[in-house]
Amino acid sequence: MLSDEELRGRWRRLIETLVREGVVKSTPVRDALLKIPRYLFVEGRYRGYAHVDEPLPIPAGQTVSAPHMVAIMLELADLEPGMDILEVGTGSGWNAALIAELVKTDVYSVERIPELVEFARENLKRAGYGDRVHVILGDGTKGFSAQAPYDEIIVTAGAPKLPNPLVEQLKPGGKLIIPVGSYHLWQDLYVVTKTEEGKIRKRRWGGVAFVPLIGEHGWSE
Ligand code: SAM
Repeated sequence: MLSDEELRGRWRRLIETLVREGVVKSTPVRDALLKIPRYLFVEGRYRGYAHVDEPLPIPAGQTVSAPHMVAIMLELADLEPGMDILEVGTGSGWNAALIAELVKTDVYSVERIPELVEFARENLKRAGYGDRVHVILGDGTKGFSAQAPYDEIIVTAGAPKLPNPLVEQLKPGGKLIIPVGSYHLWQDLYVVTKTEEGKIRKRRWGGVAFVPLIGEHGWSE
């Protein structure tokens, strides 16, 4: 088993590589990634692989995304302190913790699998974000109207189309980051902006591979 020091060292080297490669571009994203290592959000048997830049298994047959993918989405999000953020697809809770670190306020994250709600809550508590990240059990394709509207909604599962409730729950000028494409692990990552007049602008970032977004406005199971 790797010591905490070895885990920390490997994690730091991965983040330094992502900075050198230009994947991690901004100081806040770099600092957040250094502060919140992925090994705190995986089961014990995967801790030694947390620094490998690939997705890792989490309970219920789901995955925690590869560090480069999380970094890309956080850079696209360009988060600022005080922003109201909804994440759809809590999984391990790692990305939600990173978001909370960047916005320095409460974050809401919806997960459809009860086992993962528990898993994420435990991880978040252990990492010191249990009081700021609110994990909600539910169908995130419907958003979370109780805290809407949001400056940004970040979806970490692949949708067949833009879920209308998510667009509706954006503030004017707000941003939706979402993979849209096929069920089987191939989507395009879109940055969708809602203009001040309520119009929708879509920008395609590139190809990504996420597990499916399953729900009323997503894929059926
Ligand atoms: N952001 C996560 C992390 O940091 O570990 C990784 C997310 S994982 C790639 C995608 C997650 O989306 C899975 O946990 C899956 O159960 C969840 N999911 C799929 N459809 C959903 C829906 N309609 N509402 C909420 N969560 C959903």
